[in-house]
Amino acid sequence: MFVSDCLNINEKGHLTIGGKDTVELAKQYGTPLYVMDEQQIRENCRAYVRSIDRCYDGKGMVAFASKAFCCRAMCRIANEEKLGLDVVSEGELYTAVSSGFPASRLVFHGNNKTVSELRYALECGVGRIVVDNPDELVRLQKLAEEMDVTAEILFRIKPGIDAHTHSFIRTGQIDSKFGLALETGEALQVVKQAIGMRSIHVRGVHCHIGSQIFDIQPFELASEVMLRFIAQVKAETGAELSELNLGGGFGIKYTEQDKPVPYDQYMEKVSQTVKKTCEELGINCPFIIIEPGRSIVGTAGITLYTVGALKDIPNIRTYISVDGGMTDNPRYALYQSEYEVLVADRADQPRVGKVTVAGKCCESGDLIGENLPVQDVRAGDTLAVLSTGAYNYSMSSNYNRIPKPAVVMVNGGSERIVVKRETLADIVRNDLD
Ligand SMILES: *Cc1c(COP(=O)(O)O)cnc(C)c1O
Repeated sequence: MFVSDCLNINEKGHLTIGGKDTVELAKQYGTPLYVMDEQQIRENCRAYVRSIDRCYDGKGMVAFASKAFCCRAMCRIANEEKLGLDVVSEGELYTAVSSGFPASRLVFHGNNKTVSELRYALECGVGRIVVDNPDELVRLQKLAEEMDVTAEILFRIKPGIDAHTHSFIRTGQIDSKFGLALETGEALQVVKQAIGMRSIHVRGVHCHIGSQIFDIQPFELASEVMLRFIAQVKAETGAELSELNLGGGFGIKYTEQDKPVPYDQYMEKVSQTVKKTCEELGINCPFIIIEPGRSIVGTAGITLYTVGALKDIPNIRTYISVDGGMTDNPRYALYQSEYEVLVADRADQPRVGKVTVAGKCCESGDLIGENLPVQDVRAGDTLAVLSTGAYNYSMSSNYNRIPKPAVVMVNGGSERIVVKRETLADIVRNDLD
């Protein structure tokens, strides 16, 4: 029934997270409420770090993709766990730096970083800027020269592997707004140009093949393609790039149907492929970076709602409406993502019916899920939606002028608010008379 180790049921039959009674948390902090389990997050971080230590002699870095869940508390956890951190905007960069995260372990992504973002990244001393395109390279070189600094960069490459088709395929030319193409020679040309630039230091290459991926093979294939490219750069320029960033995208359990691969198996296979391919190509094994986002925080978080209206439409369906919706979780509206839900007050009871969980926004598409099996449910119950730790808070909005929920972090029997609930004053904060 449970998608995560941090969830359980107590003697009252209530759902618990990290040992805390969720019905009590809902009472104390109000709903909607995001609740995250800090120990689960830290355990996920450590599992990745351990796997690199064990399979690749520690020659790598786990960079948490902060877009999955970005706030200062999370940046601090990532820092304490010795992770790197991916940021994709000035806002994420500011959050990280203002939390005390060392800029040297930041990786700055994005397909259209503005001049002000690039300048800010150079000012902060961001350890790695992942350059997406030739325009950006020129812009960055100019800025770095003006500022009299060296920009440490990786290049984003399209390895031509589509991990999203059912059985993944290699295409000649992937249609994507991200990165440089390999097969047209674009990537090689731009990398050569950068190697000659005075204020640029090319550390390596990066790829990110997708998200919520359950197969290991696409990652192995991507690493092979990327290493061949490193060998080609070496053959043509004599420069050996020392870093390979393989991106994120490791799948997690949203429902019982999802069967994620243990991280260890992933690292083991990929390390073997990397070592073998490097030997074949006669290049040194690169420093490896991986960028998990979803799989660090996803199953460590849940959302608690209060059930309001129940609407039974005979022979059609039963709607239960909650006090949040697409504003705190737009993922069903965006891509029909599936979630497990349960009545936190009666988590020990069997699921007796199927319901459609609706939010409170003025949109028919404002749903959390359809035909979800659930326990006997009544108005006033606390409804828990599981596996909402990733891409929920970070994608939340103020549509319909709904304030964003608080985020509570549970940690070994105690808890603290890490993001305050927005107030009505926050809603009008930027309105001028
Ligand atoms: C989104 C993203 C990630 C993280 O993806 P997950 O599916 O959350 O693991 C990592 N790297 C890059 C460049 C991304 O865009």
